[in-house]
Formats: sequence, C-alpha cells, structure tokens
Amino acid sequence: MSAIYPWQQEQWRLLKARNDKGRLPHALLLTGMDGMGKQQFASALAQALLCRYRDSEGFACGACPACERFQAGTHPDFLPVTPGDEGKAITVDMARAVSEFLVLRSHYEGSRIVILAPAEAMNVAAANSLLKTLEEPAPETLLILLASAPGALLATIRSRCQQIKFVLP
Ligand SMILES: [Zn+2]
Repeated sequence: MSAIYPWQQEQWRLLKARNDKGRLPHALLLTGMDGMGKQQFASALAQALLCRYRDSEGFACGACPACERFQAGTHPDFLPVTPGDEGKAITVDMARAVSEFLVLRSHYEGSRIVILAPAEAMNVAAANSLLKTLEEPAPETLLILLASAPGALLATIRSRCQQIKFVLP
C-alpha cells in the first residue's frame, strides 16, 4: 500500500495542495538522511498520481487497475531507475532511457513518472544527460530524484528541482 511515515505528513500535504491546483513541478528532489523513508514517500506519491480514485488526503486507493499494476511493478507509465548493483553508477544509458520514457505519451492519459535513486549515483555523463531532460520537461511528467547527499549533485540539477526535505522529528 501507499502509506507514508508520520513525519512525512507535512511534505505530503504540501505536494497534495500543489497537485490539487495543477501546479506540481516537473521535478522533485527528495533529500534527507538514509532511513527517513524517501523511497517510501516517492513510491506513495507516484502511485497516488497514477491512481484514478485518490482519497480525500490524496492517497492512492490501492484497488483500481492503475494501483494494481503499480503494485505489481508493471505500470507502463512508471519507471524506477536505480544502479544495477549497490555502489554502482547510474549510467548515461539509464539517463537516456529516462528522457525517452518521459517523452512518450501516457498509457492512461495521466502522468508519466520516474523515480531515480540514489541521484548521487549518476556519473558525470548521466548527470549531464538528465540535465537536458530537466531543462526541457515534457508535459504531464514528474521526475523524482532521491538524495541523501544533495551537495554531491550538480548545482544545475538541484536548481531545476523543487527540493523536499525530510528531517528527523
Ligand atoms: Zn487506485
């Protein structure tokens, strides 16, 4: 399911309010120490945005066809990007796959969403490729980057994302 942690409610409400107004940015950078549940939050957000029947707090219903596909890892409008192995880099080929994915049309007339984590794992070529995607975002897309050490990212990437910080309660 798409639960978030108790200390993430403020960030959730902020993004829900923006989404309700149709003003969600094209790129989010979720930051905070490991163990803060960034992945959980990003996943809950992605599922909620793809869900057809969100509840009043903005959470996914967990039961519609979009939710079923998301939970099965087969939703065609969602792409998770991580290094092949822990400690390995996110390569330029992976970054290019992100751009190619985001310019396709949605299968369900909704958003297309990418979660890329950890963002610091991008090598220089990947970061430069992703920067082009950030500079010319396709409509109805959301790129969610996760980073526990955002200072390690290119400043130009950071500046094109809305940063959502998670701090210990
Ligand atoms: Zn649903």
